[in-house]
Amino acid sequence: MNKQTVKDIDVTGRRVLVRVDFNVPLDINTGAILNDTRIRASAPTINYLVERKARVILCSHLGQPKQGFEKGLTLAPLAKRLAEIIHRPVGFVEDCVGSKVKAAVAALKEGDIVLLENLRFHPEEEKNDPSFSKALAGLADIYVNDAFSTSHRAHASMVGVTAYLPAVAGLLMERELATMGKALNQPIRPLAMVMGGAKVSDKIGLLENALGKVDILLIGGGIASTFLKARGTEVGSSLVETDKLEVARGIMERAKKNSVRLVLPTDVVTAEKIAAGGKTRVVSVNDVPSGWQIADVGPKTLDNFARELHKAKTVIWNGPMGVYEIAQFAGGTKAIARLLGSLDAITIVGGGSTADIVEELGLVNRMTHVSMGGGASLAFLEGKTLVGVTPLLEK
Ligand code: ADP
Ligand code: MG
Repeated sequence: MNKQTVKDIDVTGRRVLVRVDFNVPLDINTGAILNDTRIRASAPTINYLVERKARVILCSHLGQPKQGFEKGLTLAPLAKRLAEIIHRPVGFVEDCVGSKVKAAVAALKEGDIVLLENLRFHPEEEKNDPSFSKALAGLADIYVNDAFSTSHRAHASMVGVTAYLPAVAGLLMERELATMGKALNQPIRPLAMVMGGAKVSDKIGLLENALGKVDILLIGGGIASTFLKARGTEVGSSLVETDKLEVARGIMERAKKNSVRLVLPTDVVTAEKIAAGGKTRVVSVNDVPSGWQIADVGPKTLDNFARELHKAKTVIWNGPMGVYEIAQFAGGTKAIARLLGSLDAITIVGGGSTADIVEELGLVNRMTHVSMGGGASLAFLEGKTLVGVTPLLEK
């Protein structure tokens, strides 16, 4: 990774503003934190700074407040949870800029930690407002960005603030950029990509970028229907994007030209209706009953995919193989998750739903890296520059 990190600078005694991503799912009725993975993921950077006696000022957004303070979106409970996770006291201030915050920061001793209130209670945050950025920056001597999952957003705490402070990456940011960057740009080959999900239109950037990099491209999920149709296979009432048939054909041609092994499903689980408890049938892709829909990949397809994946030394996976939200159609996605978990290869998982599935199956530790980036990891895998990463100091 070509960006400086907290390890490249002296933080002792300094006031360090750390942008974390504490945008965790909350129970709308009770406000309880439903999943604290993101809080846990911030611990390495925070511990690193505290152990070197920095004064740590944490900031984050949470949810989409409409205007100003919203009780249900306060970060106060997150300060408490963080304290439990890192076994250190964590202070909390009821704003992120202004005199109260300045006083709280002035009172910090070496190794102290304070969490500021939800950045988005100020609409200037999402507008990347210069004076708001300057006010945030004024709290600290150094800025650390550890919020990879927000790094595709040009907000004040991600971008604006870097105009006023030396800006470096946190350890989570470093891990995300380094593991995904290496897998994509300097992979141990063969490099395979498994692609799924609902729509080709969401995945064009990813597919295009993959074609210049991967050796093997396995396509399942809803997007496979558009590819099958583009090749002339009838797919009944499956989700087909008729305006993307040309794009799909172009991708298949480029794959051939680049000697990328592109593999489509050969059999599928079809359903009369995509709903729990309905009639289903496993058929060859050439025999999708008219009026029926492809809802998952079939067993032969999974065997083919497994054979290809066993050849790979690096695998990147984005997008479920079927409508995994319904148990009857979750088999293909679960099988791919378990297979990746068992491979003796570098395995990278990116994308919101895909990462959730791996987590639900308890397979996070069986993968080399499960990106918490959601949209940011997709943007990264598409080869886009991330606006929050660009301004960080070069090594
Ligand atoms: P990610 O969030 O990991 O990037 P996507 O958002 O692209 O993944 O795709 C997830 C969605 O794709 C899921 O809601 C799933 O139901 C849908 N999907 C997968 N296969 C099919 C299919 N055959 N038909 C319709 N939808 C599908
Ligand atoms: Mg998604």
